[in-house]
Parts: sequence; structure tokens; C-alpha cells
Amino acid sequence: MTNHYTVAAPDIILLKLGELILKGLNRRFFEDRLKSNVARRLREYGSFKIYSIQSIIYVEPQNGDCDMAGAYEACKKIFGIITVSRAAACEKDKDAILAAALKYLGGELSSTASFKVESKRSDKSFPMTSIQLSQYVGGGIHDAYPGLKVDVHNPELVVNIEVRDLAAYVHAGGEPGAGGLPAGSCGGAVSLLSGGIDSPVSTYMIARRGVSIVPVHFFSFPYTSEQAKEKVLELARLLQDWCGRLTVHVVPFTRIQEEIRDKCPEDFFTLIMRRFMMRIAEAIALQNGCKALVTGENLGQVASQTMEALHVTESCVSLPVLRPLIGMDKSEIIDLARRIGTFDTSVLPYEDCCTVFTPRHPKTKPRLEEVLAAEAPLNAEALIEEALANTERIKIARRG
Ligand code: ATP
Ligand code: MG
Repeated sequence: MTNHYTVAAPDIILLKLGELILKGLNRRFFEDRLKSNVARRLREYGSFKIYSIQSIIYVEPQNGDCDMAGAYEACKKIFGIITVSRAAACEKDKDAILAAALKYLGGELSSTASFKVESKRSDKSFPMTSIQLSQYVGGGIHDAYPGLKVDVHNPELVVNIEVRDLAAYVHAGGEPGAGGLPAGSCGGAVSLLSGGIDSPVSTYMIARRGVSIVPVHFFSFPYTSEQAKEKVLELARLLQDWCGRLTVHVVPFTRIQEEIRDKCPEDFFTLIMRRFMMRIAEAIALQNGCKALVTGENLGQVASQTMEALHVTESCVSLPVLRPLIGMDKSEIIDLARRIGTFDTSVLPYEDCCTVFTPRHPKTKPRLEEVLAAEAPLNAEALIEEALANTERIKIARRG
């Protein structure tokens, strides 16, 4: 390894991989996927060189036009990364490292009361131990800022030094990344996306496990308005920061709901409607090579989410139904919705297709045979075919 790093762009972003490190033989596949996800997400922030060495992905701006702050924020939302740090790169030489620390962290050093230096070397040929390097750089910083206290236990500022393969890096500590696995590394799933609080969160949770998402929305115009649809598209736009580009499938659902209202016993309206959603979602999954369905269902939240109701709902499909929120409390779901940025949009007033024909006495403990009998008068196949034929595919644009 060379010791002569030409510092073309001292400002760099370091991405540390999460669970990928555990992936054994598949690790290369996950790492390559992650690198291409990073490249795609950062395209709008300028031209970057992206490479990985020993479980670190390096994001190097290629010129002065790169939006480093924007790129840094975007990196915090890319699944598969546990820590994101913005750093200064310099030559692997103790004085170059000290100079980089003084220059890059000058603002922090002059406004803080105490500090310590923490060094790591993955390049074991570096001629000093980590402790010696920390002492050297700490001494130099102290000479430059004599009023600054060294505090090894509770410092206000930690000056981090990492001596790695191509260069040394100086930074003031990283921030947590998005965790999970790289988008698209674990296949695809159809996610049933309503305008509520829950389904954007369930979509996020499954995407975080490396699954690429095809969102499906059931739209009951004119019982639900054009704004209700816009709201779902806005939620998809917000989710794109995490999930990558999305194409929302908007399924016309009015005819099916009217048929159910006209031909089925009222107590079963919601359950039959949900079964149609599942069958249509499964058909879209098969068209798109997806291997599972995702819903925001949560045990016991409403009449249609008892264990009996969940059984009735899923027994008409054979793909696995993933319900990542199943055991969460509502307050936990809301906290997560706030953290991922969908909550404020979810609580905007809107009409929900589920509330259009709500039964007065919904069945909370339905038996499958009674539901099958209740939906028997419908020509399910024809209704599903018609809904699929009229499904609109909306490619969500980037924000901004
Ligand atoms: P949410 O907050 O996601 O709307 P919810 O607690 O209101 O969920 P329901 O309205 O019973 O519960 O819906 C349960 C799940 O069914 C939703 O999380 C979503 O996955 C799916 N779903 C409901 N309505 C629609 C719709 N109009 N389009 C797509 N999926 C829907
Ligand atoms: Mg809802």
C-alpha cells in the first residue's frame, strides 16, 4: 500500500457496513448491491467516486461542485449502512494528520471546552501505535489551543483518526446510518399502501430488510377524492428517500365495493373487501416477480384485525403475508412514522376506502365458511380481471 496519498478532495464520506459483514460468501453480492445503490442515490448531488475496501465504502467528491451536505444526509437513509461519517482525508503521516485535524476541526476545537483523540489503524504498517498517534495529535492540538482541556472520560469533542489502506481520515464522530440490508438484495414484495399511519411504516420496515417494494393502492373514486390519492402518492414520494424509486399501482376499487354492498351481507363487507385487496395484490406481485405481500395490520387494532379475521383475509392467497407491525403498540408505530418522516402526511384529513361502506356490526370472529358463502354471489374472477386491466401505474418523481 502506498503511503503517498494525493489529497485531491480532502472532504470524504465514510460508510460502515452493518449486517453485511455477517453475510459470509454472499457478502460480495450485498456489498456490490450497496455500492450501486449509493451511486444511484448520490447522482443528484454531484459526481462521486465510490469504492470499498475492507467493509468501508468511501464516497469521494470528484470536484468542487458536489453537494456534500446533501449527499451526507442522503447516505443516512441508505439501508445496509450502520455508521456515516464526514471526514477529512490526508496522507498517512503524523504531521499531515495533525494538520488535517487542526484545519478540518478548527471550528469545533475553538468552541469546545474539552476533547480527546481516539485513533484506529487498520494499516498495521503505520509506524506508530494507536496510543502513540493519539498522544502525538492530542499534544499538537493542545499546543494550538492551550485553553482546551483533555478529558478522556467525558470529552465534549472526540477527534477520531482512522489510518486505513489509502489514507488517514480525521472526523468528529459518525452518526447512525439506516441499518438493515441494501435495497433490492432480498427480492421484491407488493406493499398495500393506504393513506393511513401504519402502512407507510410497514413498507419502510420490509424495505429495510433489503426488499424492493411495489406499492399498491386501492382507490374508490368518487367515494374517496382525488386528494386522497394525491396523499398516497406523497407518502410514496417520502418513502422513496428510504426505498429508492417507486412505481405506485393504483387499482380502481369502486366497482368491487359497490358489488359487495349490493350483493353481500353487511356484516362481512370489510372482510370481503380485504380479501379482494389480497387477491389483486397477489396478482400484481406475480406480474412483477414479487415473492410476498406486506400490510400494516396490527393485532387487535380493529375488528378486521383479530386472529380470526387475519386468517380469513389471507386464506385466499398463497404468497406469504408479511405484517411487520403485528406486535407493536400504536405509540411505537407513531414514533417510527415520525422518525421516517411520513407521520405529518398520514394524519392529513382524507377519506379511507375502508370506511366508505363500514358495516354497523362487523364480524370480529368470522369463520371462513361463512365468509365464502357471503361472497359466493360475486363473480370474483371477472371483477379482479377488470380491476387489474384498469390499474394505473404511477412512477413517482424525485422530490425537490
Ligand atoms: P393504515 O394506517 O395503514 O391505513 P389501519 O390501521 O387503518 O392501517 P386498515 O385500514 O384496516 O388498518 O388497513 C389494514 C391494512 O390494509 C393497511 O395497513 C394496508 O396495508 C391495507 N389497506 C387498507 N386500505 C387500503 C387501501 N385503500 N389501499 C391499499 N392498502 C390498503
Ligand atoms: Mg387505514
